[in-house]
Amino acid sequence: LYNQVQDLKGNIRVYCRIRPFLPGQASRLNPVEDVDDRTIEIATTSKHGKGKKSFTFNKVFGPSAKQEEVFADTQPLIRSVLDGYNVCIFAYGQTGSGKTHTMTGPKELTQESMGVNYRALNDLFQITEQRKDTISYDISVQMIEIYNEQVRDLLATDDVINLMNLGHKNRAVGSTAMNDRSSRSHSCLTVHVQGKDLTSGAVLRGCMHLVDLAGSERLDKTEAVGDRLKEAQHINKSLSALGDVIASLAQKQTHVPYRNSKLTQLLQDSLGGQAKTLMFVHISPEHDALGETLSTLKFAERVSTV
Ligand code: ADP
Ligand code: MG
Repeated sequence: LYNQVQDLKGNIRVYCRIRPFLPGQASRLNPVEDVDDRTIEIATTSKHGKGKKSFTFNKVFGPSAKQEEVFADTQPLIRSVLDGYNVCIFAYGQTGSGKTHTMTGPKELTQESMGVNYRALNDLFQITEQRKDTISYDISVQMIEIYNEQVRDLLATDDVINLMNLGHKNRAVGSTAMNDRSSRSHSCLTVHVQGKDLTSGAVLRGCMHLVDLAGSERLDKTEAVGDRLKEAQHINKSLSALGDVIASLAQKQTHVPYRNSKLTQLLQDSLGGQAKTLMFVHISPEHDALGETLSTLKFAERVSTV
């Protein structure tokens, strides 16, 4: 049922979310405008004068969009995992644009501010409970971090929500020790689902990957030395490898270059074929961020099928 709805929308979709100005930030120089629920406009200045560039997505969430609203649009996709589909959801954007806010939520979590990860798991558990007389589901969760093309397990034991909190904490611990490492690593929460039909005995398997990507910003030239340079090169390489994979799927090319990064290798079975992909691209509203905003939007255009 969830799939019939989803199939109509295609297998790759791109949503854009615009972060609100943060408390205390001056909001006068705002080059980003959400025109309607599918279009944004960016005010640009060049030697030819002032101009406007518009970008179209499957969906645009403006600065006042609530977590619940963002989740509501994602929910059918997440539910399709219970019908045996593989799903990948990515949060892309420069550091500070709201990726972690969308996927996890703010540091002080409330019911209302919980991000996609928590809502997705709650939803899956609720539905498996509702279906328990007809289908017996087995759900397992894994959380990893990819830093400099090395994979690290963020979980060592097994009770889902606690585990996930632990995973987020483990990521944060790395970050204070290493100057916000979380913005320079990808973190991926994976949920494996196995359902057994109690009447027919038929078994289905689905899996979902929820990925908070490393910040997409280009390194300042003055910082481009040593460890920072190495990190930046790894991030650059893996984000462009991801872009290449999704773009080639969007264009229905026969060769899909999965082998070019750890991330795309790990997600290979969940990208392409019958699998469903959702890319949340995040943009910051500030004028200072305009350069990064435009390169984020260029990335989004490349992977989009709109
Ligand atoms: P990123 O993970 O992309 O580096 P964060 O999610 O950490 O960015 O967001 C940066 C800051 O902006 C955080 O303080 C976060 O709570 C806040 N923020 C991001 N998106 C929103 C939003 N939609 N509404 C309110 N605050 C937000
Ligand atoms: Mg983050």
